[in-house]
Amino acid sequence: MADKYVYFFGDGKAEGTRDMKNLLGGKGANLAEMTNIGIPVPAGYTISTEVCTYYYNNKDQYPKELEQQVKDALKKVEDVMQAKFGNKENPLLVSVRSGARTSMPGMMDTVLNLGLNDETVQGLIRKTGNARFAYDCYRRFVAMYGDVVLGLKPVHKDDVDPFEEIMDSRKKKLGIEFDTELSADDLKDLVSEFKKAIREHAGQAFPEDPMKQLWGAIGAVFKSWNNERAIIYRKLNDIPGHWGTAVNVQSMVYGNMGEDSATGVAFTRNPATGDKEMYGEFLVNAQGEDVVAGIRTPQELKKLKDIMPDVYKQLGEIFDKLEAHYKEMQDMEFTIQDGRLWFLQTRAGKRTGFAAFRIAVDMVEEGLIDKKEALMRVEPNQLNQLLRPIFDMNQKDELVKSGKLIAKGLNAGPGAASGRVVFNAQDAVEWKKRGEKVILARIETSPEDIKGMDAAEGILTARGGMTSHAALVARQMGKVCVAGAGSLNISYKTRQFEVDGKVVKEGDWISLDGSTGEVLQGKIETKPSEVLQVLIDKTMKASDSKTFNTYQKIMNWADEFRTLGVRTNADQPDQSANAIAFGAEGIGLCRTEHMFFGGHRIQAVREMILSGDEKGRRKALEVLLPMQKEDFIGIFKVMQDRPVTIRTLDPPLHEFLPHEEKEQKEVADALGVSLEKLRAKIESLHEFNPMLGHRGCRLGIVFPEITEMQARAILEAACEVKKEGVNVKPEIMIPLVGHVNELRAQDQVVRKVAEEVFEKYGLKVNYLVGTMIELPRAAITADQIAEVAEFFSFGTNDLTQTTFGLSRDDAGKFLPYYVEHDILPRDPFEAIDQEGVGRLMEWGVEYGRKTRKDLKIGICGEHGGEPSSVEFCHRIKMNYVSCSPFRVPIARLAAAQAALRDKK
Ligand code: PEP
Ligand code: MG
Repeated sequence: MADKYVYFFGDGKAEGTRDMKNLLGGKGANLAEMTNIGIPVPAGYTISTEVCTYYYNNKDQYPKELEQQVKDALKKVEDVMQAKFGNKENPLLVSVRSGARTSMPGMMDTVLNLGLNDETVQGLIRKTGNARFAYDCYRRFVAMYGDVVLGLKPVHKDDVDPFEEIMDSRKKKLGIEFDTELSADDLKDLVSEFKKAIREHAGQAFPEDPMKQLWGAIGAVFKSWNNERAIIYRKLNDIPGHWGTAVNVQSMVYGNMGEDSATGVAFTRNPATGDKEMYGEFLVNAQGEDVVAGIRTPQELKKLKDIMPDVYKQLGEIFDKLEAHYKEMQDMEFTIQDGRLWFLQTRAGKRTGFAAFRIAVDMVEEGLIDKKEALMRVEPNQLNQLLRPIFDMNQKDELVKSGKLIAKGLNAGPGAASGRVVFNAQDAVEWKKRGEKVILARIETSPEDIKGMDAAEGILTARGGMTSHAALVARQMGKVCVAGAGSLNISYKTRQFEVDGKVVKEGDWISLDGSTGEVLQGKIETKPSEVLQVLIDKTMKASDSKTFNTYQKIMNWADEFRTLGVRTNADQPDQSANAIAFGAEGIGLCRTEHMFFGGHRIQAVREMILSGDEKGRRKALEVLLPMQKEDFIGIFKVMQDRPVTIRTLDPPLHEFLPHEEKEQKEVADALGVSLEKLRAKIESLHEFNPMLGHRGCRLGIVFPEITEMQARAILEAACEVKKEGVNVKPEIMIPLVGHVNELRAQDQVVRKVAEEVFEKYGLKVNYLVGTMIELPRAAITADQIAEVAEFFSFGTNDLTQTTFGLSRDDAGKFLPYYVEHDILPRDPFEAIDQEGVGRLMEWGVEYGRKTRKDLKIGICGEHGGEPSSVEFCHRIKMNYVSCSPFRVPIARLAAAQAALRDKK
């Protein structure tokens, strides 16, 4: 049998199913599925993504079987719809749309009303008895065909579209404002003028032959897979180029047949808040594209209940049926033609992080999905949206009172953002590069604006609804967005907007409240989210916050399933307390050097560094000891019986000395040494490669008295807190070990001190001595190192630096270029390079445990809070990850997902 490339759907039967997304694209698979479950879908067929791949691999040729298969499918559609393609008495008209595996809203091309020409339009008039409608379809088709297939699109966003220009001048001539005021004759004239424009600008005539039109449109959709904005979108969303798009050819239904017709976009739940309600918008007497393009501001879906109560009821029933079937919140497109409802699309609805968590929790409670499914439906990084700051209400109130609340739009993307206003995407990108916070204001956004939207803190548009491009994309990016603030008069030319007589110029500060849709003139500080107010500030009661309730449920479920422990990197009692509130089960890294800067400590540290001999160093360390001990007591008290990994001194000593002349003078005076002596010391500490120099355990080896003091401070603190009845669990961690002898030397220092301390206090504390694995040699010789180390903690910051030979402090200059140009898939300092650094880690885990079966292993590099890295750590059987306090919830969820994936 010849290969199958075309899949028919219609009249309750489809050749595809929802599981065939790879072949039919998301849209095609779901049109098939909806047809199969009895939802009214206009008949059509899907040309598979394999054809797209074939087309690109074979110099824009189609497989030879395709032509016949398209003809056969078209015949079936004609039979179902009882109309004939190209027939002048009873013409079948079709839409031609793209549809990739995952949705790429607005990125690729679409042609509607295809099949119209000077003859078939007469058939359409006879069939509908509505010449105005028929010519409206015809002029739309000619313009769309000219744009999409014949390439008459404006080159730049702000250039004028030739068809719009013709339309505008006609409207002006007639003295009318809206398209709906044009008569059938006006529209007929427009068709001729449009065709003339095509002849002049495209160098060819508009094709009257419907079959030619069809193949032109199919080719244009395949071509649009590789247009610039689709490529950018794919990059931003990790969609591989080889997937290709399918093409859906479907019989037209009309939302622009009159007052009993409408078109709309709807969600089965509110995509901004997650509330369970019929949500969406519609336009009476309009075609689908009008809603998404934001040309007219649509009405709320709820209003449909008053206008067409029966259709509204049917819509609700279909919503329920689709949710019950897909067990997922749906985003749908529908058309009402002469009071009859048709569905043109369904897919899982994009939603804010806020809504994602709400919907997942609600669906478990409604019995639609189980906890495991709920956990897999949310994205760990989206937790940021629940933890995201909100405005300082006092400042906001003040602005409101002083008349600075200048506009209100739709609350399209919740959260609070303050920034300086810019009016185009390019500026947003450039200003961000300069370190500015920006708000991107556009009349409406289009796919060309994605990069700018990505760079902006928030997005503000004057036109369009909750399903407009700006709203969809902002939600997906998790950006604050106020859409459709209709009172704004934005001028790109003068780079300002005017609203109620007030003028806001480029560079002025504005603030967006994406949760209420408010636009304020001025800057507002931000405050923690509700979750933070309950957990950290304790300024809100848990029972008063729905968001907190959702957060807590998800977190509890995550803890039920995860096997990976989650600790935190903290070196202050308050940080540790925050981390516990976020669910940290211990400290995985306490960087003692951070404590050296508090109070008078730095002076003692400097004295220690400047001492010429051991005696002098010991004297300075004596001064430091009680202060360090105090720090550890504070942390142990907060952490109680949770393990606390404390690392001995790591950075090169010059980091503690001043480099500016003014400061050098002050320090020299304070220490009672001459400026020359201080300078000479600084000079002597200079290193060409400080990251590879005298740092980490190398300091403690050459100056064991430093390690001694730190071990004493840790263990004395532990003894004192233990005396109060707390079962403290200190773990002393030696940094930057490359050879087991280094660790052995430091281990001996620590153990000797421990004996002295336990004797002094007359009690013993269970403690461990372990090491960081942050040099390739340490990972490779993990079996030897584990002879001494009682635990390992991967320092993936240094391990990445040393494995790649890539300075973690300088890589910022060229790494973004690498990622942008696909030299590296991601920044390896952000997500673990699993193929390189990760292999060393796997080796380290395996060989470490060969020596010590129960070796406790964790990670404390920045990767410990990045979801893909957390999953990797689970896979290679680590015991825990450790990350900054605010990422603890993210790590808990990522760990649960890793465990659930593992079981599948
Ligand atoms: C590391 O190298 O991964 C680490 C945690 O240590 P630091 O970042 O302090 O060098
Ligand atoms: Mg390190």
